Amino acid sequence: MNNKLRLVILGAGYAGMTLAAHLDNKISKKDMQIILVDANSYHELIQEAHLVAGGFRKPNETRIPISDLIKDTNIKFIQSVVKKVKADENKIILENSDDINYDYLVVALGASTKFFGIRSAMEYALTLRSVDDGLTIYNKALKLLSKSNQGKNKHGIGNDKETKNIVIVGGGATGVGVAGALADMNHNSSSSSSEKTKVTIITASSTLLPGFDTKIIDEVVRILHKKDVSIITRTTAAEVRKDSIVFEDGREAGSRAEIPSSLTIWTPGIKGYDLVMEPQVEKTNNGRIVINDYCQTNEYPNIFCLGDISAMKEPSGKITNPPLGHIAISQAIYLAESIANYFIHNIKPVQKFQSNVNVRILSLGLNDYIGLVNSVVVAGDIARIAKGFKQEAHLESISSGEITLAAKIYKNDPVSNLLSSIFITVFSLSKTLKNKVWTYDSNKMSSDDDQDSVTESRGICKQD
Ligand SMILES: Cc1cc2nc3c(=O)[nH]c(=O)nc-3n(C[C@H](O)[C@H](O)[C@H](O)COP(=O)(O)OP(=O)(O)OC[C@H]3O[C@@H](n4cnc5c(N)ncnc54)[C@H](O)[C@@H]3O)c2cc1C
Repeated sequence: MNNKLRLVILGAGYAGMTLAAHLDNKISKKDMQIILVDANSYHELIQEAHLVAGGFRKPNETRIPISDLIKDTNIKFIQSVVKKVKADENKIILENSDDINYDYLVVALGASTKFFGIRSAMEYALTLRSVDDGLTIYNKALKLLSKSNQGKNKHGIGNDKETKNIVIVGGGATGVGVAGALADMNHNSSSSSSEKTKVTIITASSTLLPGFDTKIIDEVVRILHKKDVSIITRTTAAEVRKDSIVFEDGREAGSRAEIPSSLTIWTPGIKGYDLVMEPQVEKTNNGRIVINDYCQTNEYPNIFCLGDISAMKEPSGKITNPPLGHIAISQAIYLAESIANYFIHNIKPVQKFQSNVNVRILSLGLNDYIGLVNSVVVAGDIARIAKGFKQEAHLESISSGEITLAAKIYKNDPVSNLLSSIFITVFSLSKTLKNKVWTYDSNKMSSDDDQDSVTESRGICKQD
């Protein structure tokens, strides 16, 4: 009789793929069968999706075939869409595939775009939650840029009166990233400056990147202004039309204004992926599944949840795991260790999950990076190198199932902190690189950077 336990992982994104690789590395196939399920046949680096939107990455550079990642492992992969989990029966219902039974289940299905009840945004705006979304934006933006030359004679005079505004709703990390990338695409295009597309960000908040340190915000604003991106704050989108956005003008109660938009990109917030679970488990208002300090659902000890779909909720109601890639990865590495300890050594997890990654870098287009390394704000080449290094660490981790040297440097322990401090010091002392370095209180980093609520309205002002 085969007593092998079956663990099923739903989602092969940052959390799911990391967990599968690390578990396979730790647990022998005679003890456990690992099944990984994803709608796609590839692991997607969605943190590069805005660069796909700007035409600076090709889709195949941001997608790694899962078959390549699992070729020397015991992981069984099923490509299918998850329809439902029947928790009382330990069963998963898949689209066009047989149902799967499990002993242990890990849900890592990520997040989806939040529309705040604005249905017209679903119809007329584009979202940015995948590489495919990035490609759709790129194709539309390209069309817009090429239109600027249509209908004009050889002297550049023509009858094309269409406004070529690209408006990004939402000033969180995704919004500023795609704005920077599209502005770079615009500058790199062959059209003359008078014909180029105008990129604008509108945000309901009083600043971009609410919750980030002001030094980071100021630098992001400076970089975006240099790229000719307009920033309109305290402005709430109320309706998206085919060629415009209607917003509430907070200066006058009940009054509305409209700005033309040939391409609207919707990034003001995300919510947990809407997985149907029967019976239901506790979710936050934002649709994220509530888990305990061990990444386990409160209702089912054999169901775990990782990444953007999960919410670690303190008794005060505060959610302590923001929807970020490095948090998803840390949770996966933690859970792989906990499960392996339990199965191999029969040790129940005693240590609670704690994120120990000390690097967070924003990309603002082709060459502009800014962020936080070990409580220090970095920009320019240091930030770009740190971002590339972080991605390498992830790729090594999902290929080998090990915490590699690169990944260790990102851990928040004394040795890693020393290494990253040396790294920053060496670079900042270099006279040939134009970097900026500030010390910074890491507690001030945004805890939920994609939640740029569109429900507030506090007037309009153009940021200096
Ligand atoms: C443009 C962009 C830039 C970002 N930049 C950064 C950054 O610089 N730093 C940072 O820390 N974070 C960043 N993030 C956030 C980060 O990417 C997420 O926090 C991270 O991807 C979460 O990992 P996850 O495993 O929970 O979900 P995901 O990586 O989204 O994986 C979810 C997986 O589930 C699969 N799936 C979903 N539904 C189904 C279904 N029904 N059936 C089968 N499979 C399904 C998907 O195909 C996907 O593979 C960015 C996000 C975006 C969109």
